[in-house]
Amino acid sequence: MFRRSLYKSPAELRSMLVAGSATAAALDEARRLVAPGVTPLELDAAAERVIRGLGGRPNFQLVPGYRHTLCVSVDDDVVHGIPGDRPFRAGDIVSVDGGADVGGWNGDAAFTVVIPDAARPEVVAARERLSEVTEQALWHGIAALARARHLNEVGAAIEDYVLGEGEYGILTDYVGHGIGREMHEEPPVFNYRVDRRGAAVRPGLVVAIEPMIVAGAVDTFVRDDDWTVTTADGADAAHWEHSVAVHEAGIWVLTAPDGGAAALAPLGVAPVPIP
Ligand code: MG
Repeated sequence: MFRRSLYKSPAELRSMLVAGSATAAALDEARRLVAPGVTPLELDAAAERVIRGLGGRPNFQLVPGYRHTLCVSVDDDVVHGIPGDRPFRAGDIVSVDGGADVGGWNGDAAFTVVIPDAARPEVVAARERLSEVTEQALWHGIAALARARHLNEVGAAIEDYVLGEGEYGILTDYVGHGIGREMHEEPPVFNYRVDRRGAAVRPGLVVAIEPMIVAGAVDTFVRDDDWTVTTADGADAAHWEHSVAVHEAGIWVLTAPDGGAAALAPLGVAPVPIP
């Protein structure tokens, strides 16, 4: 079987930057639209318009059996939620995952947002904290990648950070992945400590890091729609993701407009544009 190289050339990394930018633009548009009364299907349509307008294809539609541009997972749904027509409600915690294929290269990213709800300030605060911990887990993983010799250092950094923040669980049923010509490539990117060192971190490695964090136990099940991954105990979940390239001069977050500069600065990492 043909095995795609784990390591991309500088020209290939520059191509992936285009796919990453389209992914970021689509998710930006989705985030702008999340509000009470809006439906996940409306987000999906808007994200697809942005991607096609930039000359790309929604790469989630290339996954066998999946017809949408985004996954939208609400409350106890963690990932892989199918966009439907049930409107968002005040207080919902909403995770949105999406990606673009532009010119045969892929981007993949996700964010979580909590819709304000003046009637339930404690619920909103807890959910915002869960999302913040998950986002920071992602940035700690990315910062670790910038210094890592092997990929397992990313998962160790995520685990150390999350377990230091309180009673949160890191999903182990689903993990991050390499990305390139395919949205899902080798190697796996664990969000927790593993014994095997994993791939060598060197120029050309591109990975989608995507911690999925829950405010309860880590057990999940898949709903009757055969896609949506949900916490078994009904606890809330959050999901953040970026596609990140390692190159000769440093790292660059392909799906962040600033390459991750603002979020990585407090962690002592300065991303470097791909030469
Ligand atoms: Mg992914």
